[in-house]
Amino acid sequence: MNLLDLLFPKKCVFCGKPMDGDKCKRCAGLLPVTEGMRSVKRGEFFSLCVSPFYYSGPVSESIRRFKFSGRRSYAGTYAKYCAPLVRERLEGRFDVITWVPVSRKRARKRGYDQAELLAKAIAKELGMRCERLLVKKRDTPAQSTVTGGARRRANVSGAFSVNGDAAGRKILLVDDIITTGATMSECARMLLMAGAEDVVACTAATAGR
Ligand SMILES: [Zn+2]
Repeated sequence: MNLLDLLFPKKCVFCGKPMDGDKCKRCAGLLPVTEGMRSVKRGEFFSLCVSPFYYSGPVSESIRRFKFSGRRSYAGTYAKYCAPLVRERLEGRFDVITWVPVSRKRARKRGYDQAELLAKAIAKELGMRCERLLVKKRDTPAQSTVTGGARRRANVSGAFSVNGDAAGRKILLVDDIITTGATMSECARMLLMAGAEDVVACTAATAGR
């Protein structure tokens, strides 16, 4: 334990109580964890997406705090759950890590980009490179307010562009949540058009059991 941990005991991202170690013993067994291949989603332009949690109960409340209430430090905890799953399912399938960005406007307003924090924390856990490869060119209505697969695809169509070197690379794309996969797929499409060899993905949570 280091001095910072003594001064500011780490609090569980789910129940908010102080904890020792990386994972909360109180919440163990109460979280909606995914298991086996049920954690995997496939998309039109990404070959695989793994997620340690379902987006429900304490996880959905926690992710909302991570996104909207300034809880930047949650990235570290989520990375501790994501990294082993990535290692187990996606080992050798990527050589660089990137993320699904929010627009500059939204990042400025919020003070941070939660997917960027998560991607960097996962990269740190895995000892791998994390680079910005995408920018979001315009703000789009939140996908959660848009119903239907086709509408969700249209909502994010053309919203992202590549601003890094994607050519010939195998990419792990990180985001906080995957629902229909429309946003992930649109980002993967742009990376493939920029010459990426393959795109796999990881999110902290996946919607729907
Ligand atoms: Zn807890």
